[in-house]
Amino acid sequence: MEPFIIITAPHSKCDPSAKERMCDKVAKQAAETLSSLIKYKHKLLLANIYRSECDLNRKKCINTDYWQQEIIPTIDDPLKKYNPIFLIDIHSFPSTPDISLLPLFIIDYSGGKDYVHNLVNTLINNGIKTERREVEPVNAIIQYSLSKDIPSLLIEFNENLSIEDIKKIDEIILIWLEKEINKRSDRKILKTYFYF
Ligand SMILES: [Zn+2]
Repeated sequence: MEPFIIITAPHSKCDPSAKERMCDKVAKQAAETLSSLIKYKHKLLLANIYRSECDLNRKKCINTDYWQQEIIPTIDDPLKKYNPIFLIDIHSFPSTPDISLLPLFIIDYSGGKDYVHNLVNTLINNGIKTERREVEPVNAIIQYSLSKDIPSLLIEFNENLSIEDIKKIDEIILIWLEKEINKRSDRKILKTYFYF
């Protein structure tokens, strides 16, 4: 079966006139660049509402159009048609003194699955400083995706990165993605669980 890649960026809608930071400022750039480089079948789901209206990464927003018309069908419909499927959730963080040294970090909701460690190692081996972090499982997109047995992870880009740096990182992410897809090309059965 053919692979399918889902890229989400639920905090990517920004208002350029806003004085305070109210969105993930480089998430759209990072997600669009990654999407443009992927040669597999894929779908990019940028945010269609501001985070202040509803945080699309939270379960309480499941009744939004983003979830009902984008997230749920994009995750559910390909389950029988494509394999493997990957979900990459893209975010960005403001550079503050304590985390400013890292260009990005990987948030692991999988409980330490190999594919997450492999991405961290691939980035490090290609000269990009990064680390894996585990946080509380509050990310509804990834929880939903993991409940369908889809390998899923979250990438946080530093908002100090230039467009060129983002592209370089996205190219390394693709090296990892290609390896992971090749490993799974013989997997045929997808388990699904009930999440909501
Ligand atoms: Zn975010």
